[in-house]
Order: sequence, then structure tokens, then C-alpha cells
Amino acid sequence: MDPGGLSTVSSCDVYLAVSSRGDRMAIDKERIEKAVRMILEAIGENPDREGLRETPRRVASMLEELLEGYQIVDEYTWFTERSDLVVVSGIRFYSLCEHHILPFFGSVHVAYMPRGKIIGLSKIVRIVHKFSRRLQIQERMTQQIAEEVSKAANTPDVMVVSEAIHLCMAMRGVRTPAPTVVAAVRGIFSTDRSLKEEVYTIIHPYRLRGLLL
Ligand SMILES: [Zn+2]
Repeated sequence: MDPGGLSTVSSCDVYLAVSSRGDRMAIDKERIEKAVRMILEAIGENPDREGLRETPRRVASMLEELLEGYQIVDEYTWFTERSDLVVVSGIRFYSLCEHHILPFFGSVHVAYMPRGKIIGLSKIVRIVHKFSRRLQIQERMTQQIAEEVSKAANTPDVMVVSEAIHLCMAMRGVRTPAPTVVAAVRGIFSTDRSLKEEVYTIIHPYRLRGLLL
């Protein structure tokens, strides 16, 4: 889960952390198990046959893991350091679309212009996990990541590009795995065209190529 690429970051002198609570209670696994058993019965399967006996439990544990973004607590460490553009590219993510509860997955690229504060790079990865590991749509996820990076780094100058393959498009419906690209472009990135181009140039080698798992 390490970011694929990074540019223009230097050393630190001071750090400070803030925290807040996760935005929801833990999921009810027992209820999920019952529901999965009902689904198995509804599709004409025998939930008591050997291969399926443990499936409700496995699905409940899997959902707990895939939706852990709801429980992630913000804790940002930042560094006071003069730096220009910071770009973290190729952060892999796996999410579940809220319309079909099927995976969509791909890469997120985050850029920001620090205003005296640089957040820890692992925190950017964590922000991506926080908003991807829940029921989502790609557009909202991209905006939420931009919003959180902006808050954490205390700068309005943030740009986030997400690229994803949606299994609900690939496996069903139009049955075409077309990669979807969404960008949230804020602050100086929306007015300074060359800066925006610079970000696209930096992230280019880390962009999604085809159906990568
Ligand atoms: Zn969908």
C-alpha cells in the first residue's frame, strides 16, 4: 500500500497531532451472517452444505475489513517546513460501490501546496483508506479525500485524481471495464494551468494501466 511515487518533500523540525472519533459504530456481524444466510436460501442454495456453512461468517468478517474506513480515526502529524509542491502518486485503493456493493478499485494521486505545514505521507495514504474502505461512489470519495487533505494540511490548494475500474460496469450492466477518472481540483490548481499540468506530468508514470489487481 505504499505510495508509488513522491516528489518534493524535505526534513522536519516540529510535529503535532490532532485526533477525532471515527464517524460510526462498529458493524453488526451477527446480523450480516443472518442476512447472508437468507440470501443463500433466496438464490436456491443450501446454506448448510459443506462449502457454504462458514460463508455467512466469512462474509461478515470480510465486510468488517472492507468497510473499516468508517472506523479510521484522524491522527495527523505534520511538519513545519518550507516546501513547494508535494505529490503522492499511485496510492492503490479498493472500495465498494454503494449502488451494487461490488468493488471498484484503482489509484489515487494527491497533490497539495503546503502553507507552512507538511502532513506525514503515510497519513495521506490513511486518508485514502478512510474514504475508500466504505460504501462509496468514486466522485464523492475523490472530493472527500481532497477535503480531508485540505483540512489536514491547512491549505486550500489541493488536487486529487482518482482512477478506477468498477466491477459493476465490468461484470454486469454494460459489461465494459472502462476506467473512470475523477479529479477534484481546488485552490491554486484550479487557476494555475501550468501547475495543474505539472501534477499530471508527475503522476503520469503511476497512472492506472488497464485492469490491474
Ligand atoms: Zn455500482
